[in-house]
Amino acid sequence: MTTATAYAVNAPDGSFEKVAIERRELGPHDVLIDVKYAGICHSDIHTARDEWHGTAYPCVPGHEIAGLVAAVGSEVTRHKVGDRVGVGCLVGSCGHCEPCLAGEQQYCENGATWTYNSPVPAELQAGGRTLGGYSTQIVVTEDFVLAIPEGIGLDVAAPLLCAGITLFSPLRHWNAGPGKRVAIIGMGGLGHVGVKIAAAMGAEVTVLSHSLSKKDDGRRFGAQHYYATGDRDTFKQLRGHFDLIINTVSADLPIENYLKLLRLDGSLVALGLPDQPYSVRASALAGLRRSLSGSMIGGIAQTQEMLDFCAEHGIGAEIEVISADRIDDAYERVIASDVRYRFVIDIATM
Ligand code: NAP
Ligand code: ZN
Repeated sequence: MTTATAYAVNAPDGSFEKVAIERRELGPHDVLIDVKYAGICHSDIHTARDEWHGTAYPCVPGHEIAGLVAAVGSEVTRHKVGDRVGVGCLVGSCGHCEPCLAGEQQYCENGATWTYNSPVPAELQAGGRTLGGYSTQIVVTEDFVLAIPEGIGLDVAAPLLCAGITLFSPLRHWNAGPGKRVAIIGMGGLGHVGVKIAAAMGAEVTVLSHSLSKKDDGRRFGAQHYYATGDRDTFKQLRGHFDLIINTVSADLPIENYLKLLRLDGSLVALGLPDQPYSVRASALAGLRRSLSGSMIGGIAQTQEMLDFCAEHGIGAEIEVISADRIDDAYERVIASDVRYRFVIDIATM
């Protein structure tokens, strides 16, 4: 066992506190990682505050992890001590169901093991939940550890492990590229990385944001167009316009208004995970054979493909690095959309 320092929350309305946690003994296929940076995803906030109902406390969030390999188990072949590595939302899956065999471990039929707040598989440890990356060290099976290419700093790479793959996967699935009009709703942590990736894929990118306050940034990230959804004219002007709309908003939206912005055979993909259900009249879908779909992060091989793509295109997240004692304050600022564009915890401050 290794004792690590972590920041945990003890109740839905609790504050983060420094705690000591145990990381499991290295098995033959395990990798011990010295965490250097951990991004703050809005999912961390939903979970820490039990907004999805099912959080076990104490909870250590963090699934945008970048660090260095500190030790490896006797049979590890994929990584060696000193390697620059990352861990995203997944640390395990059954490996034999249809989605796992297709490399889509996030859709494991037997239940993927998430990086935090997931029951720990019995073969690894008796009971308990996984504890995430707001921590000095983590132990992960080698198959779920990604290689971070040399070209990207560990700090700006960390958010790619969730925000990056969550956008890359649907952009690839729905063939974003030259000739495709892609809209991203919400330019926060997920959205801003999505703009960069979609632009690098060659799509014509539009941002649909509450206001025009981040317009210059959107342009700098590669968006050709930027509209305020607070302006009713936006919905008139863009009716029937997009091939693909990706919704990254963490709060409830009048989704039918956005569906009407799709052209024939267009798809609106839900990524943001508010607790409220969508309300949609069938006619908004039937009219132009539109689809409403959703997507959850991406598989391990595709996450590696995304990291390599980002390194090749010079893409990293725009970050604000904070010390570990600022997590509570950072959460408030994420909720107020007052972050440009991802908070990343400097684990050295633990
Ligand atoms: P974030 O940084 O807080 O960004 C969300 C953005 O949504 C904000 O920047 C804001 O953009 C917009 N927004 C926020 N509140 C709004 C409101 N009340 N009305 C309209 N727009 C609002 O969050 P994130 O980390 O990108 O995560 C976004 C969501 O995706 C969360 O629900 C998270 O749990 C979910 N998520 C899903 C997956 C998946 O695999 N599907 C993976 C990771 C995260 P503007 O200021 O531009 O309007
Ligand atoms: Zn996330």
